[in-house]
Amino acid sequence: MIALIAAFALQSPPPDVQAMMNQIDPARLRATVEKLASYQTRNTNHPMLLEAAEWLAGEYRKIPGLQVELMRYTLPAGRRVPEEKDVLQVVARLPGKDDRIILVGGHIDSLSLRDRSPDTRAPGANDDASGTALALELARVLSQRKWEHTLVFVAFSGEEQGLLGAKALAQRAKEEGWKIDAMLNNDTIGSSSNLNGQSDTARVRLFSELSEDHDSRELARFIEWATRDKVPGFNVKLVFRRDRFGRGGDHTPFATAGFAAVRFVERHEEYTRQHTPEDLPQYVDFNHLANVTRLNLVAMAGLADAGPPPANVRIGRRQSHDTTLTWESKPGVKYVVYWRETTSPVWQWSREVGETDTVTLEKVSKDDHEYAVGAVGGLPVAAR
Ligand SMILES: [Zn+2]
Repeated sequence: MIALIAAFALQSPPPDVQAMMNQIDPARLRATVEKLASYQTRNTNHPMLLEAAEWLAGEYRKIPGLQVELMRYTLPAGRRVPEEKDVLQVVARLPGKDDRIILVGGHIDSLSLRDRSPDTRAPGANDDASGTALALELARVLSQRKWEHTLVFVAFSGEEQGLLGAKALAQRAKEEGWKIDAMLNNDTIGSSSNLNGQSDTARVRLFSELSEDHDSRELARFIEWATRDKVPGFNVKLVFRRDRFGRGGDHTPFATAGFAAVRFVERHEEYTRQHTPEDLPQYVDFNHLANVTRLNLVAMAGLADAGPPPANVRIGRRQSHDTTLTWESKPGVKYVVYWRETTSPVWQWSREVGETDTVTLEKVSKDDHEYAVGAVGGLPVAAR
């Protein structure tokens, strides 16, 4: 029994994060989704999007400490945009002790492809009032304390017209030199089952792209590790692909701009309820949505307090039955070493090593494993 308690204690998040996790409220998520779905449409071309964005900004303004901006950008005429126009999206910032940024968001706009009329009903409850509600709920809960890094909560618009709001913000982030450590996109995360008889209440998919130009794959692998068994009965299923086949999301413009960016999406999508008048709140599973929100919370809380990543992480070259790793450390920063077999997609072992710049793993072969070192809570850096 004592051993069981000890094992459970090791897996639990820090007490304040656990308390925040308990505050994630399915009823509050439902209220946000129902309000957003009550607009006839949130098509980015429609004036009603402006109303919905202003309502949401008002909700963010009720949260103490948040700086709320209605960001204006230009939709160029093109696919699904009849004429160029200025539109808005919501960007809410919780300043940290420094200017490194953890960004989370979903898209507030919706679309119906049932017919071309601009007034066609497009409730977009799951796609993507669910992700919009998640970001607002996280802001409410995470704003209760000061974090090392700045947290940014976004309700993108223009997603359905070609990720235009995300492109505008990623471009601006690059121009203004935002230090985004991680971007978590949550799009269509509210349902655990489809009409094909498939259901999974225990997992959410996390998509990531492998690239030399950004650390999105490592971010996904880290989130899987950091959230493993932290939300009771709920975990990440990694998918090593940029997004679903032939489809896209708001994380991609951020990845393309060089930031680590990943996408959460439910396991079993129901295509007849996407971009149709049937994307209704009654088909959203709010307990499932709450679990996805808790999972994002655990990942964000770690990232938000993480020390700077180590530099020059190296594997000792001397032939040995052990593996020695070295890195450049910073004073006061504690580190974690990770390793996995070369064929494993996920971190299989980890060890907290404290304030040091070297560790020797006894009887662990450097031939048979991949290694990384990270600051506690932060993105691991691959050892070479
Ligand atoms: Zn979407």
